[in-house]
Amino acid sequence: MSSRVEGVRPIRRGKVWLVGAGPGDPELLTVRAHRLLASATVVAYDELVPAGVLALAPADAELIPVGRRARGCRHHEARIHPLVVERALEGKDVVRLKGGDPFVFGRGGEEAEELAAARVPFEVVPGISAALGAAAAAALPLTHRECAASVTLVTAHAAQAEAGEGDRDLLATVPREGTLVFYMGLGRLEATCAALAAGGRSPQTPAAVVSKATLPDSRLVVGTLETIAARVREAGLEAPALLVVGEVVARRVESPAIVDEAAARLAR
Ligand code: SAH
Repeated sequence: MSSRVEGVRPIRRGKVWLVGAGPGDPELLTVRAHRLLASATVVAYDELVPAGVLALAPADAELIPVGRRARGCRHHEARIHPLVVERALEGKDVVRLKGGDPFVFGRGGEEAEELAAARVPFEVVPGISAALGAAAAAALPLTHRECAASVTLVTAHAAQAEAGEGDRDLLATVPREGTLVFYMGLGRLEATCAALAAGGRSPQTPAAVVSKATLPDSRLVVGTLETIAARVREAGLEAPALLVVGEVVARRVESPAIVDEAAARLAR
């Protein structure tokens, strides 16, 4: 096909799909994420994307790990992997798989900006973010009508805290009421709880840590702002993990067993 300007052919660019992989369980992918992944030729994935999700890509797909460690210093973490842009400019579609939702603490915004700057078309596929997946899977009602009118998603790795300006600055922006969910490294647990208590939340405020939410080895530890850090350490929880703070933690609902032992005894 000839183009209007002689000697210049229109170049077909590939599209980059910024896809949310959900909190862990492959069954919590969206139908669209599953479809795109199952037919992908190039998949660029974060460290956090579980093996069970990645296994859904075709065996002959090119897999590009986009680990933080692989890219060294912080400045580069925010940058999209050069191979993603390269493949798109070669005309290939790329599935850029990110844990949870691509736009919740996933630097998806920065990646979209860079794709736009490189004139690479992109589309965002929402995913279930870890806070929502973890809470729902643990039957923890984040906005129970009787005790929480809001839920705030916070990163304990916010810029101020990383720059060493302390957790107080970070927590000054956190509301005094309602549910808080911290996306965090477990190493920040103690400091975060102490800062919340110092900032006016009662040390008796219920708190929970969910580790590896929606995965088979998921664990939940419940306590208060005062006790949760020690309990989590004792239980030996592993990353990735989230801290949930607020009265809603006490409103967690335990599902009755399928076999009602008491009724079965009476019937005997
Ligand atoms: N974009 C992602 C978050 C990326 S930040 C999302 O929307 O979920 C990474 C943090 O998410 C981890 O440090 C951890 O706090 C949290 N996280 C991700 N997956 C998790 C899981 N399965 N269980 C508990 N926390 C998880």
